[in-house]
Amino acid sequence: MAATSVRAVLVIGLTGGIGSGKSTVAGLLAGHGAQVIDVDAVGREVIASGGRAEAAVLDAFGSSIADADGHIDRASLAQAVFGNPEALARLTAISHPAINEVLVERIDALPVDSVVVLDMAILVESHLGKAMPRHAYTKVIVVEAPDELRIARAVARGMQADDVRRRIASQATDAERRAVADAVVRNDSDLTDLEAAVASLWTTIETWR
Ligand code: ATP
Repeated sequence: MAATSVRAVLVIGLTGGIGSGKSTVAGLLAGHGAQVIDVDAVGREVIASGGRAEAAVLDAFGSSIADADGHIDRASLAQAVFGNPEALARLTAISHPAINEVLVERIDALPVDSVVVLDMAILVESHLGKAMPRHAYTKVIVVEAPDELRIARAVARGMQADDVRRRIASQATDAERRAVADAVVRNDSDLTDLEAAVASLWTTIETWR
């Protein structure tokens, strides 16, 4: 009788600093068959109109962060938590569990042998994708690129260099990300090289299943 193997969903956290190319890597992994979930987009969904964290965030922060229709104005909310660790902690205590609930539901809905990639800016800095009753990620992929290249990429997308530098300074360091990485993708060359690196990464991922 042929041997059978029990397949289970494999959940991977994918992260990297601003402009590192993590979303590009996520797209390439999708091309190999991964199911990619954009965790930053889920974060926007949960506080959007009708989102599961909308009411609680409005309760916690009051009408000063609401727009004319009574929904959350993201710019006002960002301003309310910027440089205010206590307010930021209050927001994440509401929004992150809501995001994790959505992630569990999305993964539950996928075929059981899926490779799921959680594309997220803040992995080291949060419990996103981790503090979950099931489907917490078990592997971490980190995308790295030199700061100057990351700044140039973000500037090419319309950001100011100083803003990018500030963002880099506020995010986890390469060393902190590396400390939790099961695999590191160095994205300091062109897209052809990145495609080759991701093809090789996919063979590594196959060994994780
Ligand atoms: P952010 O945190 O800002 O969302 P990110 O880490 O998800 O960034 P991407 O959106 O994947 O980064 O890439 C940033 C920009 O750099 C994009 O415009 C992308 O097309 C470009 N880019 C990424 N990798 C390369 C590469 N190897 N060669 C050329 N351009 C690249």
